[in-house]
Amino acid sequence: MLDLIIKNGKVFIPEKGFLDLEVGIKDGKIVALENNLSDSKEVLDAAGNIVMPGVIDPHIHLGIFNDFAHECEHETRAALAGGVTTCGVFMGGDQSYLGQVGELIDVIEAKSSVDLFMHLAIFTEEQMSEMKSYYEKFGITSFKFYMAGVKGVFPNVSDGFIYEGFKKVAEFGDKAIACVHCEDQSLIDVAFDKVSAQTPEGTLVDWAKTGPDMAEEEAIIRACYLAEKAGNRLYIVHISTKDGADRLTKIKANEGARVFGETTSAYLTVNKHGEFGLKGKMLPPLRDKSDNDGLWDAVKNDTIDSLGTDNVSMTLEVKQEENGMLGAMPGYPILQTHFPAMINEGYHNRGIDIETIITKATINPAKIFGLYPQKGVIAVGSDADIVILDLDNSKTVESKNLFSYGDFSLFEGQTIKGWPTTVVKSGKIAFSNDEIMVEPGSGSFLKREL
Ligand SMILES: [Zn+2]
Repeated sequence: MLDLIIKNGKVFIPEKGFLDLEVGIKDGKIVALENNLSDSKEVLDAAGNIVMPGVIDPHIHLGIFNDFAHECEHETRAALAGGVTTCGVFMGGDQSYLGQVGELIDVIEAKSSVDLFMHLAIFTEEQMSEMKSYYEKFGITSFKFYMAGVKGVFPNVSDGFIYEGFKKVAEFGDKAIACVHCEDQSLIDVAFDKVSAQTPEGTLVDWAKTGPDMAEEEAIIRACYLAEKAGNRLYIVHISTKDGADRLTKIKANEGARVFGETTSAYLTVNKHGEFGLKGKMLPPLRDKSDNDGLWDAVKNDTIDSLGTDNVSMTLEVKQEENGMLGAMPGYPILQTHFPAMINEGYHNRGIDIETIITKATINPAKIFGLYPQKGVIAVGSDADIVILDLDNSKTVESKNLFSYGDFSLFEGQTIKGWPTTVVKSGKIAFSNDEIMVEPGSGSFLKREL
């Protein structure tokens, strides 16, 4: 007997489109994909809706401005309510990770409502020498390098250091990948000093000038060059500018780097002129409308392969907007609105193919980070992480109704069209009728293999 049948929906199958199929689920896995399934404990009617894989957000942060366990519990519930069933969490610090990651995995197993995989930032020689152990002990196959740091939080590392790290990733083979924050530190430092001297009480428009567009483009050129020389696969996180994306288009067409581009739902859907003001302070900064346009073009032309959030949750008390452009903290909670905001802006407002958005939010990150075919696809044998998406489901965003512990949203008061009605995670109905139906700890830590 099956545990669950999802019927009457349009099932998204990559490269085939939307098929009239029923999905049969047992013991957390998809076991049948056909018609006229019967004999099940439960049946979900998806009539009029899309049935698609759970969204994979490969780029979140937990534990930066609040306790890791607290964020792991609350923010993964926000994720679920927005259709996200798997997240990649970036962790970083200046100590060896060997003594830390085991405890983090225990917290994830106890608190998370989605499945989590981990990327580790490499800042020190000690960490670089332990990369192989991070794989052997914890199944971690993705490593991050910061060409520009975050003032007071993370330092940047040199090209020489990055090149050594890239060569290690290349030795691990084609299932491992290096992630890079591409901005040039010196271009940012000069711009930051100028802006903070001239307009210390500036707005989000001034904040954007602290991270010049060319700093991103220049660093993309260098990272791709280093990856081409080292022979590793490269993932450029959070591309925020049209110039950066356009440069990556040329590199992908003409050069030898094996490189994937990521942008975030925020860079696609909001910009520095947003009514949220300094609540939108971020690194890299939110840009202009022309960058929204350029990044959607890059989604269409496959320069952008993958869509994430760079979610950094916090409350307004921690955000400290009242302390001005320089005093406010960077980041915002955005997991729950991530996928619906892209459906609203990309599909409804801009006419982008729904297939393109789903592909870059599901199967592509699964393939890039070594999770496919367990994740990212509706296929027999895959994990039963499934979203029932109603393209016409409209909701006005009120942060008090979101599941994040954060108390603001960049979309406050905006009506977004295209929300999940039901989310199935590991074969169980995890979100339905605006309610989370699973307990913290129903998610797992995902070890990956080379
Ligand atoms: Zn990030």
